[in-house]
Amino acid sequence: MKNWTANYVIYENHVNKHIGIHRNGCSQIGKNGGNGIGKYIGFSNLNDAYEYAKNSNLLIKDCSFCIKNIQNKYSCEENMDIAEEKEFKLNGTVYIARKYKETKRDIIYKETREVVKNIKGIARSYLKQFNENVSKDANVMNTYNAVDLLMKYC
Ligand SMILES: [Zn+2]
Repeated sequence: MKNWTANYVIYENHVNKHIGIHRNGCSQIGKNGGNGIGKYIGFSNLNDAYEYAKNSNLLIKDCSFCIKNIQNKYSCEENMDIAEEKEFKLNGTVYIARKYKETKRDIIYKETREVVKNIKGIARSYLKQFNENVSKDANVMNTYNAVDLLMKYC
C-alpha cells in the first residue's frame, strides 16, 4: 500500500459507482472495497476531495470509520483557524490542546484527531500533578478556562 502524504484519500470505483472519502491513516484505505478495481487519489484538504468527488458523478460515501464518526464533533477543523496547539501526555495517551482564533477550545486525541468527550476531565487529571484544581462547577471554571490553564503547563 502506498504511503500517502495527503491528508485525505479517496477511493474511486467505477464498477460499483462510488467514491469513498477517507482521512489519511484510516484502516479502510487499501481494502479496495466493492468488488472491481478502484483507484486511490490523495488530496491535501477535504474541500478538494469533495470537489473532485462531485465532478465524478459517482455516489459519494463518507467513510463511516474516519469521516462520519468525527465530522459532527469536530465542526470542520479545516474551516476553523487554529491559533495554538500544544501536545501533552496523560496515562500513555498523547493529546493535543487547541486554541482557535474563535472563542473555542478543544482537546483532541493526537492519533485519531477525534475530540475527547470529557475535555474538563482530561484537563483536571493532567493538572493534578501541578496542584491545579479544575472545578466541576462551570461557574468556577468553564471548559475554555480549563484548556487555557492546561496549555500553560504543556
Ligand atoms: Zn475511512
